[in-house]
Amino acid sequence: MPVTHEDILHWLQQSAQVLHEYSAFLTQLDSAIGDADHGINMDRGFTAVNAKLTGLSDADIGTMLKTVGTTLVSTVGGASGPLYGTAFLRAGMVSSGKQSLETSDLITLFDAALEGVKVRGKAQAGEKTMLDALIPAIEAGKQAAANQLSIAQVLQNMTAAAEAGMKNTIEMVATKGRASYLGERSVGHQDPGATSCWLILQAFSDTMTP
Ligand code: ADP
Ligand code: MG
Ligand code: MG
Repeated sequence: MPVTHEDILHWLQQSAQVLHEYSAFLTQLDSAIGDADHGINMDRGFTAVNAKLTGLSDADIGTMLKTVGTTLVSTVGGASGPLYGTAFLRAGMVSSGKQSLETSDLITLFDAALEGVKVRGKAQAGEKTMLDALIPAIEAGKQAAANQLSIAQVLQNMTAAAEAGMKNTIEMVATKGRASYLGERSVGHQDPGATSCWLILQAFSDTMTP
């Protein structure tokens, strides 16, 4: 079963709900190694996204994702707004005109999102950022796709890899973003952005799991 327009709507609604529920937790993580606003930022951004969804009932998937991107860029302050915004914009650009997504489209979409985050943030794996959830997730997704697994299973494997990657950030030294100001003192704390990335992937996986 491909990912449909309705699935994308549901995923975005589910993301907004989960980021709202986890807002205090994300902010708590950011209070340890940042400026205690990541949950507030993500909740604000996805509340604005949620408000736009009713106007997108006839839009193709590319338009939907591009709208998410511009909404996040314009409503979220801080590093995460432009980074997630660019991710969704790039994902939307490679999904232009599409009404549904097959597994290969999904991999293309995530690759484009990843490339956007990398270009925008100039970070790479192992720097204690959202990339440390996203990169292993995409690797797991490609593996699952190569093994002909269902889209639900692909997303479940991606979510599991994102969760493991998120946990691996605890032992990392931050070298990008605000947490890098702490240097070695950032060790022992889970990265907030890797955590929100896991939550957003989990929302997608939950949407596609029958
Ligand atoms: P700010 O740090 O501006 O307050 P947020 O608290 O909303 O923004 O987001 C912080 C998160 O952004 C970090 O936990 C990290 O995952 C992510 N991040 C910061 N800088 C980068 C970067 N250069 N590349 C990728 N992700 C980054
Ligand atoms: Mg912050
Ligand atoms: Mg901030």
